[in-house]
Amino acid sequence: MASIELHDLTKHYKQGATTVKAVDGISLNIEAGEFVSIVGRSGSGKTTTLDLLGLLLRPSAGQIMLDGMDTGKLRDGARADLRGKKIGFVFQDFNLLPGLNAIENVMLPLRYHKNGKDGKARAASLLEEVGLKDRVHHRPDQMSGGEQQRVAIARSLINRPSLVLGDEPTGEVDSETSQQIVALMRRMNREYGVTFVLVTHDMDVAAQTDRVIRLKDGKILSDVRATGDQKFLTGADLQGVIA
Ligand code: ADP
Ligand code: MG
Repeated sequence: MASIELHDLTKHYKQGATTVKAVDGISLNIEAGEFVSIVGRSGSGKTTTLDLLGLLLRPSAGQIMLDGMDTGKLRDGARADLRGKKIGFVFQDFNLLPGLNAIENVMLPLRYHKNGKDGKARAASLLEEVGLKDRVHHRPDQMSGGEQQRVAIARSLINRPSLVLGDEPTGEVDSETSQQIVALMRRMNREYGVTFVLVTHDMDVAAQTDRVIRLKDGKILSDVRATGDQKFLTGADLQGVIA
């Protein structure tokens, strides 16, 4: 389980005489087990925020606490260890290695970090869980986009992370496949208690998450949670949130 606290998180890029405020003072808490989406127009700072959360970038200012640990205090090696241990990633273009089959791709993170034994058995059972029992030895070019993304989801979970980050994970699949991918992540969120933070352009995807954070110009414009007995946000909740 991962809890996240962002305190006045800031990432500025200097470009010649101008400074781009990609992330401009974001403060928020995400509790362990939440299923969160980050939305906003292109250039609003979604990817930068996610990359900061994933410890892929260091902030210009502000603080990222992961499970109560101040990540800014860690050296590069310790950040990489923490990332390998706690964080899984899912990408828009799946990012599978073309020369490796499905199970080899799922096992890839184990080369850098091992969390427990029996990596192969775990990879096989994850592939079964994502519905790819009969694709274990297929290479990426022998699978559909949706299948490749399911391999990537299995890979993101191989090290039992507490947090999975996805940057437009449904950006390159059709809308029906997109719904299946989000439903799968939701099931993994429930089953393993893994915190998910997804960046998306897609209102149908955001509507399946518990909480929608909208960014504009590197700042939080709105932060809406599913309320009452609602399991998911409805289109009505999102009116004006995703415009
Ligand atoms: P989004 O994912 O919402 O489209 P990004 O986080 O990618 O937004 O970018 C936010 C802003 O920061 C944009 O104006 C973008 O051009 C700028 N930006 C992102 N990365 C860099 C970089 N490495 N160098 C300079 N500017 C950047
Ligand atoms: Mg982006």
